[in-house]
Amino acid sequence: MPYDYDPQNIFARILRGEIPNKTVIETAHTLAFHDIAPQAPVHVLVIPKGAYVCFDDFAARASAEEIVDFHRVAAQICEIADGAENSPRGYRVISNAGVAGVQEVPHYHLHVLGGRALGRMLAQG
Ligand code: AMP
Repeated sequence: MPYDYDPQNIFARILRGEIPNKTVIETAHTLAFHDIAPQAPVHVLVIPKGAYVCFDDFAARASAEEIVDFHRVAAQICEIADGAENSPRGYRVISNAGVAGVQEVPHYHLHVLGGRALGRMLAQG
């Protein structure tokens, strides 16, 4: 089912420069920036610059160039999370989608989390 993209979502506003962000990496197609409410010592969001709502929207519609660029940036952020000081190695990548996935911002993003032991993947129930 196609998605309607809301151009007023907060990440679209960040991409237009209307709202500041703490950028970690920026490329032609991708922006990585610190989450405003970090849930781990490293909590970086990776977003495509194109108007995609969620993972399957991006995977289905983005160009090969966008998809490669996005994942190369994500890999660099994962390396940062993996090498965080005073933490066991490793990291977690999460992408929430829709109501069931409790997605707050309807612009596709990965959460890259690390810098501490992160616990189990899902809360029970
Ligand atoms: P999700 O629930 O997967 O849509 O996650 C949205 C994430 O965006 C949350 O972790 C928020 O803390 C984060 N967030 C919301 N507004 C901003 C902002 N202005 N700058 C950085 N992160 C934000």
